Amino acid sequence: MTYDYDLIVIGAGSGGVRAARMSAGHGAKVAVIEGDRPGGTCVIRGCVPKKLLMYGSSFSADAADAAGYGWQVDIGGHDWSHLITAKNAELDRLEGIYRNLLKNAGAELIEGWARLTGPNSVSVGDRSLTAAHILIATGGTPQIPDVLGLADCAITSNEALDLPAKPRRIVIYGAGYIALEFASIFNGFGVDTHLVYRGDLPLRGFDPDVRAEIATALAGRGITLHAGTTINSVAPGDDGHAVTLSNGSVIEADQIMAATGRVPNTAGLDLPALGIDLGPRGEIPVDARSATSVPSIFAVGDVTDRINLTPVAIAEGHAFADTMFGGRPRTVSHDNVPSAVFTQPPIGSVGPGEDEARDMFGEITVFTSKFNAMKNSLSGRSEKTFMKLIVETASDRVVAAHMVGPDAGEIMQGIGVAVVAGATKADFDATIGIHPTAAEEFVTMRTPRD
Ligand code: NDP
Repeated sequence: MTYDYDLIVIGAGSGGVRAARMSAGHGAKVAVIEGDRPGGTCVIRGCVPKKLLMYGSSFSADAADAAGYGWQVDIGGHDWSHLITAKNAELDRLEGIYRNLLKNAGAELIEGWARLTGPNSVSVGDRSLTAAHILIATGGTPQIPDVLGLADCAITSNEALDLPAKPRRIVIYGAGYIALEFASIFNGFGVDTHLVYRGDLPLRGFDPDVRAEIATALAGRGITLHAGTTINSVAPGDDGHAVTLSNGSVIEADQIMAATGRVPNTAGLDLPALGIDLGPRGEIPVDARSATSVPSIFAVGDVTDRINLTPVAIAEGHAFADTMFGGRPRTVSHDNVPSAVFTQPPIGSVGPGEDEARDMFGEITVFTSKFNAMKNSLSGRSEKTFMKLIVETASDRVVAAHMVGPDAGEIMQGIGVAVVAGATKADFDATIGIHPTAAEEFVTMRTPRD
């Protein structure tokens, strides 16, 4: 059989672009099909614009902290449209970079929405293309629960990044990564921010201490937390919308954001017709090589619903390219993936939470530290920094680290290397701290928690 291409990649997000570039670099003839803007969720509607808004929102806290250091700061008003315009210009620049990355690698970008028509064929508009291999990297999309009136008016993270004006009061539904990050962003910009979530603490799946600490910190920053609560209905109200909660209370808000999870983008690809049965959330089941049940079709990134993080999708795409076209078969380890939640203060984590660690390793030794960061001594901020190390008692190996506090994401990247390398608690103890930092606490925790 001869095909138009060696590889067709569907989706020009982080995973798809990495796979396409690396495959082309290995000599494959590659086409990438994208119906939206190259760059995907992370660059266009996720990590990048989110972090720019997060930076923008953090200056109000910086200004508040500066007074204790003698600054007479009047931070004044905030020009929302300036920020959105500047952010959009940066996204345009990054989209251009993504287009050039593909072009310079020799991969052809085809703009349009793809549908699989066979194990080796894809249609885009009225074009039909064939390839020896097809890689699906179509990412995910926000989901809105079936609550009376909610879908009619709720924005998701897609729209929250592009609002024409700053809301006065916002209700954010959910308490995962996205809900917490946007709650911090809006709160930092002075928006009256309400977080409504059904659990007793935010961030289900995280270490229990981290969950408790972040709840305290977010409330301390002025976010109103409605724990153990769901939204019963949304109706027109005096301030835009009246949000009725399961406890009977009503919040009037001019903006409602659903941050209630994301689902894989598989609708419209026609995968079941090819014999690829989707998982319960619509995800594409794959093996360690990112192979589906059809030998010519592979999938990477959020569409597979393994670990939905950009660097994981990139690693999966790269490994696919090396395996398929580079003569270097390899798989990606999904263990010990460090991550951060860019709340204010941020969270950094690597390895399991305490309960899960106990299930995985049996006897564990836990070290914790909770302290007032030095910067707070003059700023007067009462927020605590929290750190935790989890050690497998039998081997002395550090199996997890967690932090809530300034720079947690930056600090956790280095700790992640140590955990992946199998460092023991004795190795941590033998490492000299950098003084004065918060990070040094990770190498000076000596007494296990009772
Ligand atoms: P998450 O799965 O993290 O959180 C979803 C939240 O919505 C949870 O609080 C969940 O509650 C709640 N929820 C789900 N369904 C309902 C429902 N029907 N009614 C009420 N509440 C509901 O999803 P996100 O959208 O926040 O993020 C998606 C993924 O994107 C993350 O898991 C992460 O992998 C990635 N991401 C990573 C970021 C980073 O690395 N910094 C930033 C943003 C996203 P409950 O817990 O009770 O189920």
